Amino acid sequence: MIEFLASQKQQEYMARYKKLATILRDVDYKKPYKPNKSNTEMFFNILNYAIFNGKLSPIDKFSIRRIRDALAYYEYDEETDIAQMTFKPKFKNMKQFLDILGHEMVHHYQITHQQKCSGNHNSYFFKWKKKFEQMGLDLKVRY
Ligand SMILES: [Zn+2]
Repeated sequence: MIEFLASQKQQEYMARYKKLATILRDVDYKKPYKPNKSNTEMFFNILNYAIFNGKLSPIDKFSIRRIRDALAYYEYDEETDIAQMTFKPKFKNMKQFLDILGHEMVHHYQITHQQKCSGNHNSYFFKWKKKFEQMGLDLKVRY
């Protein structure tokens, strides 16, 4: 039954997809989500493999704290080569948090892989929208 054997690449893709799909399937949309640093790092790794083929370099510092006028933001310091992500302490639910983590990860990709890209919400940014949808996430500017 050779025709039913997926290639190794397809199998890897399915494994990554399943992990994220399992997480998304179990989300309680009514339950607020309070991220912590270790969960954020774990989800970063899952999304890195599910969406970015593992190409993203690690984030040097995750912070959880109150932020004004934003749910999260990404910062990159060219001089020190330090990348940081900051998240507010509470999200509507885990899905909202994962959408936003993915959003910040696109900025990380723009800055570290696309030298000519400003890192804004431009066409480079929205190129990821379809991939997000395939993985069950939403890539938006407002959440
Ligand atoms: Zn953004």
